[in-house]
Amino acid sequence: MQIIEVPDQASIKYGQLWDGLSEIIYSNGILNITNGFIKAINAHTSKEGFVFDYSHATLMPALIDSHIHLAFPYEDTQPLAQRAQQYLQAGVVAARDGGNTCGKLSVNSPFLLLQSIGAIYKKGHYGSALGYSVTNLSQALQLVDKLASLGAQHIKVVASGIFSFKSYGKTGTATFSASELRSIVDRAAVHKLPVMVHASGDEAVRRCLEAGVDTIEHGYFMTRETLKRLAASDSYWIPTLSPVNAQLAKPELFDALTPTMRDVITRSLIYHQELIAEGFALGAKILAGTDAGAPGVLHGISLIEEIMLLHNAGLSPLAALQAATSRAAQACRQTLMGSLAPGKKPYILVLKDNPLKNIKTLFSPEALLIPA
Ligand SMILES: [Zn+2]
Repeated sequence: MQIIEVPDQASIKYGQLWDGLSEIIYSNGILNITNGFIKAINAHTSKEGFVFDYSHATLMPALIDSHIHLAFPYEDTQPLAQRAQQYLQAGVVAARDGGNTCGKLSVNSPFLLLQSIGAIYKKGHYGSALGYSVTNLSQALQLVDKLASLGAQHIKVVASGIFSFKSYGKTGTATFSASELRSIVDRAAVHKLPVMVHASGDEAVRRCLEAGVDTIEHGYFMTRETLKRLAASDSYWIPTLSPVNAQLAKPELFDALTPTMRDVITRSLIYHQELIAEGFALGAKILAGTDAGAPGVLHGISLIEEIMLLHNAGLSPLAALQAATSRAAQACRQTLMGSLAPGKKPYILVLKDNPLKNIKTLFSPEALLIPA
């Protein structure tokens, strides 16, 4: 796939255009760019400047992955810029990092990595691979201040364990109380930072909802009652199907799994898919996040697979695509990307077909356009 920088003055002829927002598909128009910003998406005359001819193709907003770990796997010494390139090659221009122990990452690439720098977790509980431990609230709040001063673009908190492959429905204990989470959200707000929280198990998800966190990561094994509350809340939900699906879809990578473990994972995945379908019907704000870097979850292409998994679980093509474009941009507070509209920057994916009708066209993009 070609990655092309768009000059500040340009026009892009297209056969079809999906703006990332509604079900409307524009046909045979021109997208005009003035001073580096989209000026019009359905024009009929080109502005002065460079003219791209994609009159055979479909334009849509470039993709955003709401949950990755760019530094993972640690044992793989692949340069981060190469991993960033894998994202661009899949049509992904930005991703939100869920933490690591490497400190602030330097990624020499037009790929935008939104960093938490390191996650905050409770000492003695799950999270040592993701960031920094604290023993009490005051340490957690100090860490929020420190991460903000280091340039974190969001705060990541680990509020539960991970789900057990041996025992269905087990996720480890919820670690931060609702009031602790609320204090962290309030302190992050002082720095104008959103808070993403790893939460599996019903208790951890309920505490997140009580605290009003921005995004709930995973959410495995929440009850249907909690799902209803999530759907009625302002919090986004990032169900991360990919790391669970990989365990079953790529058995060659997981040869230590016993039949019992495969059975637990299968049942867990089925319940999670049911929650996603019901959450979508209830109006939950679902985002596509892959947890890329986790075992079996590749950087870049996994976002396309996650979009397919969300669609297969029950999201409409429109909702599955919004989950990685306009809705993701809102949650990640990236106001210049995620949709094609006047005032946005030209982060544009060029596809062979209309993704609302043929979502699999995402697997073979023709070009990624990014601002010069
Ligand atoms: Zn993660």
